[in-house]
Amino acid sequence: MLTLSPLPALADNYIWMLADEMRGTALVVDPGEAAPVLDVLEARNLRLTAVLLTHHHPDHIGGVAGLLARFPGTVVYAPVDERIPNAHTRVGDGDRIAIESPAAQFDVIAVPGHTRTHVAYYGEGVLFCGDTLFSLGCGRLFEGTPAQMLASLDRLAALPADTRICCGHEYTLANAAFAQRIEPRNEALRLRREQARMLREAGTPTLPSLLADERAANPFLRVDVMDAPPELPQQAWRAGRVARFAALRSAKDGFRA
Ligand SMILES: [Zn+2]
Repeated sequence: MLTLSPLPALADNYIWMLADEMRGTALVVDPGEAAPVLDVLEARNLRLTAVLLTHHHPDHIGGVAGLLARFPGTVVYAPVDERIPNAHTRVGDGDRIAIESPAAQFDVIAVPGHTRTHVAYYGEGVLFCGDTLFSLGCGRLFEGTPAQMLASLDRLAALPADTRICCGHEYTLANAAFAQRIEPRNEALRLRREQARMLREAGTPTLPSLLADERAANPFLRVDVMDAPPELPQQAWRAGRVARFAALRSAKDGFRA
């Protein structure tokens, strides 16, 4: 039986931890800093065995060296990218990684868009997607094209509906404001926004979310099904799904709630 926990880090990052409390082992995903992980490992009497990295940004890898210093036996998995030091096993699309303890297997999915070498890890009913898919949003396009990011999101959206979505940041409320501007009559979205407000007021993470709920309310997964939003260029909406996605992404880049 594995337990899944989001550990808040830096300004609004989550470091995801998957732990086997019986065997006293844990893995973490995208440790942007070491201290929050070390604190939880100590409090729960856990030993770190593996680190999964999704992409090279410092707020996702900054804690790796500090974790290795404390737990030198930890195996670090990362995509092929010279900007990520301290990795033992390089992974790419289609790879399957098996971790002995906590016992877990993950399929590696290449998801270029936010960065060119970004990967996601899917297994145990959980998706670790870094800065590709967010709750009610998606990552910015720093190194990829809209077509690449849309193809990446298509692959994630095709996973089982009950997949728990573990994103790299707590962005749900800010994303919800934009999403509601785009789809003001989406009832599933209205409910998600209310629920997120209550969770944040109580200091609780809004994650993980469920893939089924993202399909119903995340505008970036809905370019094929939503009505043309009045505030986006209607020409783009008629020009096909990549143009729709590009128009949505650039509208979000300029959006202030
Ligand atoms: Zn990033």
